[in-house]
Amino acid sequence: MAVPIAVRSHGANLYAVAGGQGVLLVDAGWPRSLPDLKAGLEEAGLRLSAIRFVMTTHAHPDHAGLLQTLKRRSGVRRIVHQAQLRSLDDLNRFFERKPDRHYEPVVIDGEDLIVGRPNRVALAGIGIDGEILETPGHSDDSVSLLLASGDAFTGDLTRPDWATPESADAVAASWRDLLSRGAVRIWPGHGGPIAAGVIAELLRAGA
Ligand SMILES: [Zn+2]
Repeated sequence: MAVPIAVRSHGANLYAVAGGQGVLLVDAGWPRSLPDLKAGLEEAGLRLSAIRFVMTTHAHPDHAGLLQTLKRRSGVRRIVHQAQLRSLDDLNRFFERKPDRHYEPVVIDGEDLIVGRPNRVALAGIGIDGEILETPGHSDDSVSLLLASGDAFTGDLTRPDWATPESADAVAASWRDLLSRGAVRIWPGHGGPIAAGVIAELLRAGA
C-alpha cells in the first residue's frame, strides 16, 4: 500500500510505502526539514520510527537533503541505486559552499543497500515487491520505484508535455519504459497523482 506523505511548507511529495519489513520512504526532503517530515508522517498516522528504509529518486536538495540525517536520527537503511553514487557526491560538494544550510553530507557505508540493475530480488529481500528503474530525463541520476501493484513513484520525471526540447526524448523513453512495465498510478515528486492513461495519451500526442 502506498501512503502519500505531504511534507508541509516545502512543496515536495514524499511517499511512505508499507513493506514486509517496515515502511520505505521514497525521497527525503530539504536539509533541516525533519520537523516537517515528522508532521507529515503524523498526519498519515505514522511515526518516524516506522520508517526503516529510505531511497531518493534523484540527488537534488529537495529530494535527498535528509538522507544522512534520517540515518543518524533513526538508523534507517538507505537504498541507493548505483546511478546515484556520483550525483550524491555532487550534492555533498554543492552544499560544501553553503554551510548555512546545515546539510549533513551523505556518507555511504556498508549498511546501505546499493542496488544495480535488475534489483527486484534485492527489494524483495527488504519486503518490497517492485523494482527501481532508471528513468532519466529530469536528471541523469533519476530513478523511479515501480511496485507490482502498478504504483509508480517517479520523483521529478517531467510530464511529456512539459519536457524541454533537449530532454524530450529521454523523458518519453523513461515514461514508455514505466508504462510497458505496468505502471498504473503515477505519484510524482510535485503535484497530485496522475493516471498512467493520461501519460500514455500525452506520449501519443507528442509522438
Ligand atoms: Zn529535481
